[in-house]
Amino acid sequence: MRNFIIIFLVLGGLFNNIYAQEAKSNRLTKIVLDPGHGGDKPGAKGRISLEKDINLAVSLKLGKIINENLPDVNVVYTRKTDKDVDLIKRSQIANREKADIFISIHCNAAKNHEATGTETFVMGLAKTQENIEAAKKENADILTEANYAENYDGFNPNSPEANIFFALYQNAYLEQSLLLADKMQKQYTFNTNLLSRGVKQAPYLVLYKTSVPAVLTEIGFISNAREEKYLNTQLGQYKIAASIFQAIFQYKQRLEGTNLETPSIESLIPKEAIAQDKEAKEKEAQEKRIAEEKRKQKELEEKKQKEEAKKAEELAKKIKQDLQKKDTTTLKETNKEDKETKSNNQTIVYRVQFFANETKFGENNTKFKGIEDLWMYKEGKMWKYTSGRFDNFDSANTHKTKIREKGHKDAFVVIFHKDKRITIEEAKEIEKQLNK
Ligand SMILES: [Zn+2]
Repeated sequence: MRNFIIIFLVLGGLFNNIYAQEAKSNRLTKIVLDPGHGGDKPGAKGRISLEKDINLAVSLKLGKIINENLPDVNVVYTRKTDKDVDLIKRSQIANREKADIFISIHCNAAKNHEATGTETFVMGLAKTQENIEAAKKENADILTEANYAENYDGFNPNSPEANIFFALYQNAYLEQSLLLADKMQKQYTFNTNLLSRGVKQAPYLVLYKTSVPAVLTEIGFISNAREEKYLNTQLGQYKIAASIFQAIFQYKQRLEGTNLETPSIESLIPKEAIAQDKEAKEKEAQEKRIAEEKRKQKELEEKKQKEEAKKAEELAKKIKQDLQKKDTTTLKETNKEDKETKSNNQTIVYRVQFFANETKFGENNTKFKGIEDLWMYKEGKMWKYTSGRFDNFDSANTHKTKIREKGHKDAFVVIFHKDKRITIEEAKEIEKQLNK
């Protein structure tokens, strides 16, 4: 079955070639422009745009330049609006119109977002996997076309054999196609900063059944942010369109044996597009300057903030140290207070009261001769005099006996808690609480 298909293809190709060669003249009077994809087939997707829209915009600009500069050339579009056209129909338009050249305009895309540049393909065997992949991507559009198996001789663009099948089928105008492709790549290089990836062969279905000199040009990578931006500017689109025009112009001279001077790129691009681009570039430069100023300002502010933060940190550290010092002192003081508080407030103090009088006598009064630990307190009008300071009743009671022996026959034990006189029962209750 496969052999049969191959034979069929070879024969088909030969007939195609013979027919096409007979029909050609040495004039270039009709060009079919084919903006890739369209409608619900957007082609490759960029960050800010779709391939189909760039393809159409560049094609329309190219058509306009051709109309203005080559009045004897008729331009036919496979689409002039955002609509989908089957790949087979695009070929059929070129064949039906007996076009002298067919130019399919596309944007490239790659997983590697750094990939950049232009390349122009003619129908043939892809020599690298990269070129096979590029064609696969563009050919994938047929998978949603009705009767695609029939229209493309049963080819599945995803099958690994597809590339080999295509190799058997070469455009009869390979030489012319290569010549045009080569001129296009040269003009891109002259007129733009886009890298030239060169002229290549790959099995593009849109070229497969196109029986006229035919090229498919990838005018840059929509997957590369910088290139996508360029492809979306009026000037970028005009520069590419004008480059393709210059290539067509030179190709026409060669074909027709004339030697007219190629119109300059400046003469082909509307002044407004150049002015608009200048304006956009100036605006961008200014935005860049503003952004740079803002960045510097931010940097300064950050530096200032850092310095202030450092100062604040140092201050906080100092305060912390000061506080720690104070804490130690406070702690010491608190400890001391605690002790006193404990002795004065918490514990119960037992004393021996031996004398009371409305008059406050001095410590050195002869009345208190031989009395140890004299302590006095006021209760009502009376000053009351005690001796000794004990933490239990028994010791105080023993001391009471000694005081009585010194002549104070009525001496008795008095109990204090927080400097307040309490009864023996209260003392017992407090002691119970404290010992809990
Ligand atoms: Zn495409």
